[in-house]
Amino acid sequence: TQNLLEVKDLKMHFPVKGGFFRRTIGNVKAVDGVTFDIKKGETLGLVGESGCGKSTTGRSILRLLNPSAGSVIFDDQDITNVNGKKLRDIRKDIQMVFQDPYASLNPMQMVGNIVSEPIKNYYKNKKEEEMKEEVMELLNKVGLPEDAYYKYAHEFSGGQRQRIGIARALALRPKLIIADEPVSALDVSVQSQVLNLLNELQDEFDLTYLFIAHDLSVVKHMSDRIGVMYLGNVVEVADKHSIYKDPLHPYTQALISAVPDASNFGQKRERIVLQGDVPSPENPPSGCPFHTRCPKAMDKCSSIKPQLKEVKPGQHVACILYD
Ligand code: SF4
Ligand code: MG
Repeated sequence: TQNLLEVKDLKMHFPVKGGFFRRTIGNVKAVDGVTFDIKKGETLGLVGESGCGKSTTGRSILRLLNPSAGSVIFDDQDITNVNGKKLRDIRKDIQMVFQDPYASLNPMQMVGNIVSEPIKNYYKNKKEEEMKEEVMELLNKVGLPEDAYYKYAHEFSGGQRQRIGIARALALRPKLIIADEPVSALDVSVQSQVLNLLNELQDEFDLTYLFIAHDLSVVKHMSDRIGVMYLGNVVEVADKHSIYKDPLHPYTQALISAVPDASNFGQKRERIVLQGDVPSPENPPSGCPFHTRCPKAMDKCSSIKPQLKEVKPGQHVACILYD
């Protein structure tokens, strides 16, 4: 199969200003070398603790932020530095579903207008009736009643609002959807309904997903492959079964060991408790970003930054243990 998205050594550094003259006094390395690809029709889960750079990675693919370095290839086109009309075209093909449907939708706007807004933006000459029909159909596909069109976002529950957000993301028939924690603000009881909806829509609309989440059971449910992030780096990428059954990076091993056995492919595993806190991305450790907490760290881990390497077929790991 062909890759729809290729992200290579992506970096996103933000200057830190300080002092009387607001000079640049440092650099936050929010994303510091992220590499992965996503095949057409696939779901890649991106997982890691909050602050590890997964949202920033998603936003820089959509170019809501401009990458500091690296490249993003989408549909065989280098989109790392595109601007103007080209960027506008790409934003038609890549849509985002946000974490908080309360914050991302205007509660005082009619749902019909929320969902048709992107269509109006891109197809200025589209007939009103035609557009309305399209929007009605979208509302139906995401499981909302037809009269939702005339209601306001504030009249809906959290799960329904996320359905509105999904309908809006689908309005331009994108190829890639970046879903950034799409269910973490929702009640547990409605989370799986929204996840199942995303799965159904994937087949129906030929979608490819970058699915960002911190909850490993949610990621497991959704993903074909999983990328694990730590402190701005992707430290392991593999199909989900390898990640859960045979995690190779010491950080992935610790993450998986914390998942309760029931959802752990029935494997008994010793819980690995990491010492210390995640270091600040403003002052990340030299060498391997994980060396300050890694139970298997060696002397050279503080001086050599390991690169992602294919250690087993399809399983890429950034750790000196496998050199
Ligand atoms: Fe641990 Fe060293 Fe591997 Fe980093 S490179 S994960 S510190 S063993
Ligand atoms: Mg799927």
